[in-house]
Amino acid sequence: MTKIGFIGLGNMGGPMARNLLKEGHEVKVFDLSGEAMQKLGSHGAHAAKSAADAVSDVKAVITMLPAGAHVRAVYQGADGVLNAASAGTLFMDCSTIDVATARDVCAAAESAGMDMVDAPVSGGVAAAESGALTFMVGGGAQAFARAQPILEAMGQKIIHAGPPGAGQAAKVCNNMLLGITMIGTCEAFLLADRLGLERQKLFDIASNASGQNWSLTNYCPVPGPVPSSPANRDYQPGFTVAMMLKDLKLAQDAARETGAATPLGAKAMAVYEAFEAAGRGALDFSGIIKMLEEDD
Ligand code: NAD
Repeated sequence: MTKIGFIGLGNMGGPMARNLLKEGHEVKVFDLSGEAMQKLGSHGAHAAKSAADAVSDVKAVITMLPAGAHVRAVYQGADGVLNAASAGTLFMDCSTIDVATARDVCAAAESAGMDMVDAPVSGGVAAAESGALTFMVGGGAQAFARAQPILEAMGQKIIHAGPPGAGQAAKVCNNMLLGITMIGTCEAFLLADRLGLERQKLFDIASNASGQNWSLTNYCPVPGPVPSSPANRDYQPGFTVAMMLKDLKLAQDAARETGAATPLGAKAMAVYEAFEAAGRGALDFSGIIKMLEEDD
């Protein structure tokens, strides 16, 4: 059992903190939302008065925040947690943020005498609730060894991706690929419709042929072949267009900074931007097939 501070109790952080409690850890929580704090309190968490309070007298800290600016503010702001924690505290930032911020904050943590990993997740709210997340972890060997047993209370796969920032690098590359494969999968179903090929037949063949990919086999964008996919419930999320767009923007920023050629990543971002501009950012990202159908 470890005494853990947890900051950011939203759609993902809330269920992750509950899983730590279920595994017998003592958890001290903080969120700007009183409602989120109350929910965790009813599961046995201790309420901290501030982020600084959440990290005092604990061995490890997890943050699950919206974006890089929030992470910088919580770690390095006036009341930042790096000043408030005891030397030797382990920090695990599970938010999805840009690689440069992840590296900077990790360097600041290390110079303050802390261990730190970036540990973004794959898997949405359902995986956070069932403790089935995949963690992509960037950080030194000692920090990873300390983080692994704690992350195991919230996830099924804990993968050491490399040095600080490598977890965020893996996340941004994976999700750019996901955004691209989803659009390609939708295009294949639309072409099949025009050619008079049954959707189920395309699924049966492509899922056993070279077109096989996760967007097709686990998250099929047309209703029928994969009963659990959002297409079967009118594209209610799941993983929203807005969240996919956030990750594609991070990928394009990283591509610009590093000079990597990502023409399909850029195109995928433009396609999702058009969908969001049409007021459909709250739909599941597989709902992009609706826009492509309308463009036909
Ligand atoms: P969310 O908006 O539901 O939760 C974020 C929480 O952080 C909120 O409760 C907010 O009040 C709190 N917060 C913001 N600033 C704070 C501060 N200064 N101090 C304390 N609390 C603060 O977001 P989410 O869906 O839980 O996502 C969290 C992160 O996980 C994001 O980086 C997101 O990209 C990533 N992610 C989300 C999903 C998903 O399916 N929702 C999947 C994978 C990764």
